[in-house]
Amino acid sequence: MKTIQQETAQILAQLGVPSAAYEGGDLPVHTPITGEVIGNVPVSTAAQASLAIEAAHQAFREWRKVPAPKRGELVRLLGEELRAAKTELGRLVTMEAGKIISEGLGEVQEMIDICTFAAGLSRQLCGLTIATERPLHRMMETWHPLGVTGIISAFNFPVAVWSWNAALALVCGNSVVWKPSEKTPLTALATQALLQRAIAKFGNAPAGLSAVLNGHKEIGETLVASHQVPLVSATGSTAMGNQVGPRLADRFARAILELGGNNAAVVCESADLDLTLRGIAFSAMGTAGQRCTSLRRLLVHDNVYDKLLPRLKQVYASVNVGDPRESNTLVGPLIDSRAFDSMQQSLSEAKASGAAITGGERVNVPSCPKGIYVRPALVEMKEQTPTVKRETFAPLLYALRFHNLDEAIRLHNDVPQGLASSIFTNDLREAEQFLSAEGSDCGIANVNIGPSGAEIGGAFGGEKETGGGRESGSDVWKLYMRRATNTINYGRELPLAQGVKFDVA
Ligand code: NAD
Repeated sequence: MKTIQQETAQILAQLGVPSAAYEGGDLPVHTPITGEVIGNVPVSTAAQASLAIEAAHQAFREWRKVPAPKRGELVRLLGEELRAAKTELGRLVTMEAGKIISEGLGEVQEMIDICTFAAGLSRQLCGLTIATERPLHRMMETWHPLGVTGIISAFNFPVAVWSWNAALALVCGNSVVWKPSEKTPLTALATQALLQRAIAKFGNAPAGLSAVLNGHKEIGETLVASHQVPLVSATGSTAMGNQVGPRLADRFARAILELGGNNAAVVCESADLDLTLRGIAFSAMGTAGQRCTSLRRLLVHDNVYDKLLPRLKQVYASVNVGDPRESNTLVGPLIDSRAFDSMQQSLSEAKASGAAITGGERVNVPSCPKGIYVRPALVEMKEQTPTVKRETFAPLLYALRFHNLDEAIRLHNDVPQGLASSIFTNDLREAEQFLSAEGSDCGIANVNIGPSGAEIGGAFGGEKETGGGRESGSDVWKLYMRRATNTINYGRELPLAQGVKFDVA
């Protein structure tokens, strides 16, 4: 049987990553499955970062001249490479981020989907034609490429987040420089290798169109500081956004901030409890609670609380926690011991405030003695304490009772974050109230599905401390382009707007 290091090396070779890219470097990569080191990646230096940004800037100057549908062809080719490599890249996501197999594959599917979307979009980067007040004039909007797009990503979606940004940026005529999480550099190297294959098939894309800079936050800071990077899309904790946001604002750069969430589901009296139970289970325990959209707060109507909670406790007690490579595992490992410590800290704070806790203890997985596995925790709270209002990035679900929907919406919105939300109800009025201007204050609001598991077709992101950014579908592409308003005079007179007179003759 192959060791986990051998299996990782084999996948990386299949995906076209040379061994020098992940051997002998100073950034150790630990698989959360066993805690073992599966690679040592060289950290990019500040000088290498400057060179990559300069090369990307030069590449942008060429790439912006390529017609958008041709740029879309490159992204279509990337989608083909991803299709061909789905099994291997999905497996690598499992090895490096600890996702169960179907979620690793799902992450790659999401990359394929955004490539399909972006390739179509490359023929639809269209602006408005606007009526003008002046005769024989025409006014229109044109959308131009913007420049180098910096991408900073988090460990929990190690490759999908890059693709949401890169697929759009490339069809919009931008080049990309990526600083992946220091916890997941291998999947980034593999993704870059697949893009290079697509670029080779494309034929004449400029050198430097895409680069990966591995390392800690200092490398991310070079992207944030560079005046050659007019847009930085940064995904990670609110603490990171607090550092990155003001620095980008300081140099008037554009920011797409995709930060922490503290997502809730409201379970109403009329809810279909079987469906609700399944929706809660996936969104609270899937990805071991390590999605930005993971369900963390469950607000349950008093009249169904005592029916739902016992069933949920059973699910929590019996869900399969273990090696994510096993087909029957639903909850894989935490990313590292810090995640475990922060989960235990939140649990002890909740206990001190009188909470009743089911689960939360370490699970011994004999084949993975150094991996950090926990039983997901269901925490019945008396009130929404400061601990509940903080994002704990682990499988930890706080449950609270409510008596009417107004109270539930007040509790729902009374947290600093505003990413994803959901309501379980069969009452049309309740659903519509939740989706209305007076309802959920989040960027994502769902009915009868949990808050997690978004599709690429919609705009993805959230409000308040989640950062206000949007990525992926809908009209998000506009964030990656520069809008110009053009007024064209095809007459022989020069009428001025607002009737202003300025006759010099
Ligand atoms: P993190 O904030 O620790 O790191 C994210 C990335 O930011 C890493 O690449 C890191 O090196 C970089 N970084 C950190 N400080 C920086 C700085 N000052 N300048 C430049 N780069 C810097 O986050 P994480 O632990 O990898 O991921 C978990 C967090 O990400 C959670 O809070 C989760 O909710 C959030 N997240 C949000 C979304 C979203 O779309 N809203 C998606 C995924 C994850």
